[in-house]
Amino acid sequence: MYSIGPLTVARGERAQGLIPVGTSSYGVELGIPLIVVNGAEDGPVLCVDAGVHGDEYDGQEAIRRALAEIDPATLRGTVVGIPCMNTPAFEAAARASGIDHLNLNRIFPGDPEGSYSQRLAATFVEQVVPVVDAVVDLHTGGAYGEIAPLVILQGGYEDLATDIALAAGHELVWKGGKWGGTVRHPVLAAGKPAITIECGGATYREANVERHMHSIRNILRSLKMIDGEVELRDTYTAVTGTFARSSNGGFFVSYAEPGENCKEGDLIGQIVDHYGNTLEEVRADWDGIVLWVRRIRTVRSGDEVVIFGAVEGEIKP
Ligand SMILES: [Zn+2]
Repeated sequence: MYSIGPLTVARGERAQGLIPVGTSSYGVELGIPLIVVNGAEDGPVLCVDAGVHGDEYDGQEAIRRALAEIDPATLRGTVVGIPCMNTPAFEAAARASGIDHLNLNRIFPGDPEGSYSQRLAATFVEQVVPVVDAVVDLHTGGAYGEIAPLVILQGGYEDLATDIALAAGHELVWKGGKWGGTVRHPVLAAGKPAITIECGGATYREANVERHMHSIRNILRSLKMIDGEVELRDTYTAVTGTFARSSNGGFFVSYAEPGENCKEGDLIGQIVDHYGNTLEEVRADWDGIVLWVRRIRTVRSGDEVVIFGAVEGEIKP
């Protein structure tokens, strides 16, 4: 038997249901939707989540499909899928919650007495983290930007999370995310591996759903939960990212694609006014890699336009 939230799942069975967090103004129960595949044999519990940001769709569909193809009769351990963690943000088709407008991925571990997003984060920490062994958190570049396929490995937790980070299969490993409060943080703090996989954005693409499914399958192999050889690259590239924000509002024109290498001084993009005058140029400050590019053309002062990566070194598996 495996228990999580309101669900109790026998070995070799599947289940679905909601961990309650609250109710909507029209009286419908709100919470964290779960899909559980409990294997017939012993093994670890892997949690895969998506939809922490409501406008990031590819991972949500990847979780449903990846879990549908797992045969519980041969699975070793348990897979917990959270296809859409932040349902109020999904309903708003937005990054942040439509209820309290908070960015869920900056407020973990949350607060059980706080606003809805705070309660949602606290529910994940209280009811999911204690009953899983590892967390894989799927993201995209959001509705307004596109990101190169990469895995985020929290600095300071390399011993804990490098193995599943490399099994995600992407060449780029972003060491960091200097900010706190992500889904990864309470899991890592509990001594369990957690990574974020980024891929795509701007619009939903089947190719990116496939990429996320490939990562999930390879991580299941690396944890020996399903049969098959783990696919690892000969080498991985460790990067850090720096956000470039515009000083001026205007129209954003981009000249580089996510994942593209740039030399110091290369023009990555520019902000023009309605008459075509250049207000601002975004250039590479060093030889590096474009990680994320704005896809929405409207730019307001202070908006993110590019995330530019610096190569820190190689990682050998
Ligand atoms: Zn995201």
